[in-house]
Amino acid sequence: MTHIAILGSGFAALTAVRQLRRRGVSAKITVISPRDALHYLPSTIWLPAGLRTAEGLKLPLGRFFARHNVTHLAATVTGLNAAARVVETDQGPVEADHIIIATGGRFLRKLPGIENAIIPCEGIASAEAIAARLAALDGGTIAIGMATNPNEPGAIRGGPMFEYLFILDTLLRKQGRRERFNFVFFSPSPRPGQRLGEKAVDGILAEMRRRGVTTHLGHKMVRIEPGKIVTEGGEIAADLILFQPGMTGLAWFAETDLPLSPGGMIQGDELCRVVGRPGVWVAGDAGSFPGPDWLPKQAHQADLQAKALADNIADLLAGKAPSRRFTPELICIMDSLDSGMLVFRRGRINLVLPALKPLHWLKRAFENHYLKAYR
Ligand SMILES: Cc1cc2nc3c(=O)[nH]c(=O)nc-3n(C[C@H](O)[C@H](O)[C@H](O)COP(=O)(O)OP(=O)(O)OC[C@H]3O[C@@H](n4cnc5c(N)ncnc54)[C@H](O)[C@@H]3O)c2cc1C
Repeated sequence: MTHIAILGSGFAALTAVRQLRRRGVSAKITVISPRDALHYLPSTIWLPAGLRTAEGLKLPLGRFFARHNVTHLAATVTGLNAAARVVETDQGPVEADHIIIATGGRFLRKLPGIENAIIPCEGIASAEAIAARLAALDGGTIAIGMATNPNEPGAIRGGPMFEYLFILDTLLRKQGRRERFNFVFFSPSPRPGQRLGEKAVDGILAEMRRRGVTTHLGHKMVRIEPGKIVTEGGEIAADLILFQPGMTGLAWFAETDLPLSPGGMIQGDELCRVVGRPGVWVAGDAGSFPGPDWLPKQAHQADLQAKALADNIADLLAGKAPSRRFTPELICIMDSLDSGMLVFRRGRINLVLPALKPLHWLKRAFENHYLKAYR
């Protein structure tokens, strides 16, 4: 029987499971990941305001795996021999006919003193730390910033940093203590968020001005110290620092025979095949793909890539040539707790809607709808 090993149990991995079964693929599927739960990261932005709890964002996958006849191997992948199609794990090797790499990426930790900042997108624990630090602060300066991977400018996750900025501002206003805080937004880029499009950047910068946020833009970062950020253009004193560095691939990627992009991600093609490694596929944050320069590292894009590769595997198993390209698309509702700004990109379309109340509710409704598949 054909064996498909899926590495990871995040967005791309689980979408691949659903799409393979939807396409009638009856192969044995093994999902290899340390935990049998989906962490719904996009909603961690709401933890500081108490709209969500950490436990509520961890969805157990036992029933989902049973429904889709999937074996879960609780293990961490430590390496891979693509030529032999063997996955190395801390629980021993796993052989498969097809290997789908969907382990996500990680954030660069090279900046000296990075441990003095919270990296918001590292997971649910980071959002809990932000909530605890904010609750303990009586006042002061909150500095929020982001940077990219200098070797791969697209390896950035900026949207959630704008969300944290606007959400914390709204939250402090609701709590009646905003006047005791200053906000500073910093980035080496003079126009942060450029992959959302120029109009969106204008809208974001205008929103910062409207909310009384000071900006420190266009200065290369030097280091972070306890209580301050040092850039080539000056220092920012801060009581709470949220900083999102650029993204790169997992450490074990570099120990394999997989082709890597300049930023350390696995090089995929338009069909989500790993370049030059038949039977090995990649989707989501783990990969680097051809496409427009705004191609996002998003759950939505991870899903689109997983759908494409599942279709391609289904075709191959049915004796057909794979031909399904993934759709490059960006959809982002940038939430601010009581409203949201929508950005959509596909081909030449770049739609930006200003902050509107219903978009906050649409983001909540989408979460509910999306998670139905896993409940
Ligand atoms: C605060 C925040 C807000 C966001 N907002 C949005 C949004 O509004 N819209 C959107 O589309 N995206 C959003 N994102 C981005 C989105 O969450 C990621 O792009 C998405 O999680 C990527 O999916 P993935 O499947 O590639 O990887 P992940 O979801 O990161 O999944 C990786 C999986 O691999 C597993 N894994 C890791 N290492 C190993 C290993 N060595 N061995 C085995 N398994 C391993 C992990 O446990 C996990 O199960 C947001 C992210 C954050 C943090």
